[in-house]
Amino acid sequence: MAKQDPNISRKPPSVTEPITETRKVPIRDNGEPLVDFLKAAPKVVQSTPRYKYKRETLVRATVADMIRIASENIPKGFRLAVVEGWRPPHVQRRMYLATWARFKKNNPDWSDAHLRRVVNRYTAPINTPVPPPHSSGGAVDFVLLDANGEEVDMHSPFERLNSKIYSFDAPGLSDQARRHRDILGDALSKGGLTNYPSEYWHWSYGDQGWAYRGGHPYALYGPTEPPGYKAPPEDDNDEPFVFIIQG
Ligand SMILES: [Zn+2]
Repeated sequence: MAKQDPNISRKPPSVTEPITETRKVPIRDNGEPLVDFLKAAPKVVQSTPRYKYKRETLVRATVADMIRIASENIPKGFRLAVVEGWRPPHVQRRMYLATWARFKKNNPDWSDAHLRRVVNRYTAPINTPVPPPHSSGGAVDFVLLDANGEEVDMHSPFERLNSKIYSFDAPGLSDQARRHRDILGDALSKGGLTNYPSEYWHWSYGDQGWAYRGGHPYALYGPTEPPGYKAPPEDDNDEPFVFIIQG
């Protein structure tokens, strides 16, 4: 692990990794290109989509190699699937609107200030000093599949969308859900990725969150785009996404 820079004053890492803390992590982008993780890690597949838009299959080159190593450490009978790695700005914007709409619907009495604090914990806002982790190509969301390609249980006895089960160490999970999380976590850790503790599916290397939780003096990846990237016109609007998986 890189040595902590004595000039940076940081509190002990919080599981919620607040922007007020991660913004203190400097970014020295090493210029690594985005590559296709499906090509770099042939054992990995893309998960069923959560939202309806064109998903990219890009991450930074080192992260793609880490995903490959992780996929080779998944036990027989399971398969590693990526929900999303690099995320373009228009998708991040619409995802934020979707998370906002979801929490507002479930908590109509919350003030906007409180809503913002909670929503920011689960979906990175745009236009802040901290670029959204997925914009760096260093953050990746994963799920574990069974031999038939179905997503395994990671949330019972709770429902998938219950925010009580988002954290990796959520209390009250069934033995089966706990075991599946441990299989995922063990493989991804062997690959070299670290977990954002507030979301069991979100892992990263090189971004500000990774530097913050690991005590590294600076992040290796800032926001990036593939050369000449253009948002697909059909996806580039301000409609909040609607979550399309139930259960
Ligand atoms: Zn994520």
